[in-house]
Amino acid sequence: MENKKLRIALAGNPNSGKTTLFNKLTGSNQFVGNWPGVTVEKKEGRLIVDKEVILTDLPGIYSLSPYTLEEVVARNYLIEEKPDAILNIVDATNLERNLYLTTQLTELGIPVVIALNMMDLVKKSGDSIHVKELSRQLGCRIVEISALKGDGVKEAATAAIEAAKNGKTIPQHSFSGPVEHALAHIEEVTVHNLPEERQRWYAIKLFERDEKVLEGLQITDEVKAHIENDIAAAEKELDDDAESIITNERYIYIGQMLKGIYKKKGTGQLTVSDKIDKIVTNRILALPIFVVVMFLVYALSMGTSIADGGVSIGTFLTDWTNDVLGGAWLTDGSRAILEGWGVAPWLVGLISDGIFAGVGAVLGFVPQMLVLFLMLCLLEDCGYMARIAFIMDRIFRRFGLSGKSFIPMLVATGCGIPGVMASRTIENERDRRMTVTTTTFMPCGAKMPIIGLIAGALFGGSTWVATSAYFIGVAAIVISGIMLKKTKMFAGDPAPFVMELPAYHLPAWGNVLRGTWERGWSFIKRAGTVIVISSIIIWFLTSFGTVNGRFGMVDDLYEDEEVVTDEYIAVVADRMGVPEDEVEPMDDSILARVAQPVSIVFKPLGFGDWKPTAATVTGLVAKEEVVANFGIMYAYDDQDGEEELEENGDQIWDRVSEDFDSFSGGHGKLAAYAFMIFNLLCAPCFAAMGAIKREMNSGKWTMFAIGYQCCFAWVIAFIVWQVGRLFAGGVNVIGLLLALVLLALIVWQLLKPYKEAQKLSVH
Ligand code: GDP
Ligand code: MG
Repeated sequence: MENKKLRIALAGNPNSGKTTLFNKLTGSNQFVGNWPGVTVEKKEGRLIVDKEVILTDLPGIYSLSPYTLEEVVARNYLIEEKPDAILNIVDATNLERNLYLTTQLTELGIPVVIALNMMDLVKKSGDSIHVKELSRQLGCRIVEISALKGDGVKEAATAAIEAAKNGKTIPQHSFSGPVEHALAHIEEVTVHNLPEERQRWYAIKLFERDEKVLEGLQITDEVKAHIENDIAAAEKELDDDAESIITNERYIYIGQMLKGIYKKKGTGQLTVSDKIDKIVTNRILALPIFVVVMFLVYALSMGTSIADGGVSIGTFLTDWTNDVLGGAWLTDGSRAILEGWGVAPWLVGLISDGIFAGVGAVLGFVPQMLVLFLMLCLLEDCGYMARIAFIMDRIFRRFGLSGKSFIPMLVATGCGIPGVMASRTIENERDRRMTVTTTTFMPCGAKMPIIGLIAGALFGGSTWVATSAYFIGVAAIVISGIMLKKTKMFAGDPAPFVMELPAYHLPAWGNVLRGTWERGWSFIKRAGTVIVISSIIIWFLTSFGTVNGRFGMVDDLYEDEEVVTDEYIAVVADRMGVPEDEVEPMDDSILARVAQPVSIVFKPLGFGDWKPTAATVTGLVAKEEVVANFGIMYAYDDQDGEEELEENGDQIWDRVSEDFDSFSGGHGKLAAYAFMIFNLLCAPCFAAMGAIKREMNSGKWTMFAIGYQCCFAWVIAFIVWQVGRLFAGGVNVIGLLLALVLLALIVWQLLKPYKEAQKLSVH
């Protein structure tokens, strides 16, 4: 016998446990999430039980219709690549919806084996499923499994291999008379020359007027007209359109089948999961609970350190690493050692004040980040995040937005790039564009050090500041969504979004730890690559410059009293707008010279100094760079000379705090908060902008998205700074009035009725 490699496709609904089963069957490692649509790419692996068999993980889908990218990817694979068998994973706690896909899979002419998953939950709830009868009615073999616990997984693989070798699945379900009549005609005139077992699927798709199948079969106009007659006749008789007829009949069939097969333990009884959901997704309580949950997450990860009477272990560890990495031995210590070795001064500067100061500043926040990611992964894995999408859908829908927008947002809390890519699951182009435009408002992992720095160093470890960063991101998305939806560009009804809530379950620690580590590690890797390189560049730009007409290292030039005369100091003081005794060598650095004029843009936001300006702009390379940049710019202050060696890492952040106070006229905290808001909401890093460009697939729309983000960030930070000074003191009347006008415009756009735009969308 020939030794052909067998290919098995793993198909199933989103959240049915596909990834979990795939990992168990192939031993490959990937991230396991809880929301539908993350698995867009194709994954393959060799079965552990038989290395010769290749398993392909198809995207999670609800049906084989051509409406979402996932569906198209999955069905093209099934039809064109013709795997030897389909292993259909079915969530036993959601049989009705899951079997909708199953009925379609059995029509493809490919042997199907069902892995009936989540049987642990079914057994725990006391429900029972008559598996033998279900298997008979569907015409395929069923193996009961629990992918999570690994029960029955091997048997499912073996059954799929057997089916691939010599199995056959014949669809057991027939549609109503008029439909079957039409199907028979269609089969006869269009696909009778295809292999028999595949004819039925094509006939059904032609009946549904599936454009993609029509194109693929290259049917002549004459034949098309012929089958159109058949379809129209059935539609007339059943008084519905063809596609709805098929959908309805499938659901009716499944519903009737399940009556005798699925027995709930004592009707009307709520499972634990249902009981939790009654509270957690309650119309009134849902949002407050969400706020409390996220507050706890931020309190534990980035709030007040346990050393200062708070609960945050993350902050405690970050304080400690900042002391170590941010100063004492990394920056100053390494400088002392390198100088001791007789290393050239510029190289000492590059290594100690450039690379170590920049990378150290970023790495200092790793503990907070790991704790934050650990908790987000926990919420994700136990099923809570899926509820958030559900709750958000309810809120979004009221404003004509699709809840699907919230899934990319959840992904974006890790990194904006997969977040932007996850918007592919949104089929409606306008909704997708809007989601691509707004998703990166979420605080991603790389923005976390900015939050940690502002909340920790400038607000003394305030949990509210850190939590507010998260909700400012969410609010920015909701507000932008509502405002944009009322413009001509984005008007239109939201795509329907059916979200299935998986039952709550205890988190699988392996998944959670792996997810946390993967996100944390990618952060550390970036610190070791992108941040090292940009720190070197920033160090160069802050160390070199032209002082009184002479180019060189600014520190050295400032030692030369012939170059830096008293008159020259006065010139610099005037240019920088600081007192003469505050002039420092860095004021003449290339970075200061370039950033100083740009800082005008941020004057109305309270942080119009060259240092935060430079940090903000370099943040476009990578958001970690904002903090790395502060690390370098404040690494040491030459005027204090020797004393510096005694100081520790906290000192750097203290200097940042003092500097914010000095250039904002004593409102350092408010200015820092405006700075944080601007940096959270403005254009994301270049890599994420690239992702936006790819998903928009249009230069114009990319410009729109980036432009919108920057303007929105500026306006919100402006309002916060101007209105905030009502409370902090030092009001600027013109600024305040302008801020109030902008605020009023936003509120007006939010409250204005949606009708107008709807009219515009009707062509
Ligand atoms: P996918 O979207 O189909 O890839 O689903 P996942 O593999 O990500 O699983 C969704 C969620 O269901 C995860 O949190 C899994 O831990 C959980 N899960 C998967 N299989 C089982 C199972 O057999 N029993 C239980 N209780 N949970 C499961
Ligand atoms: Mg998955």
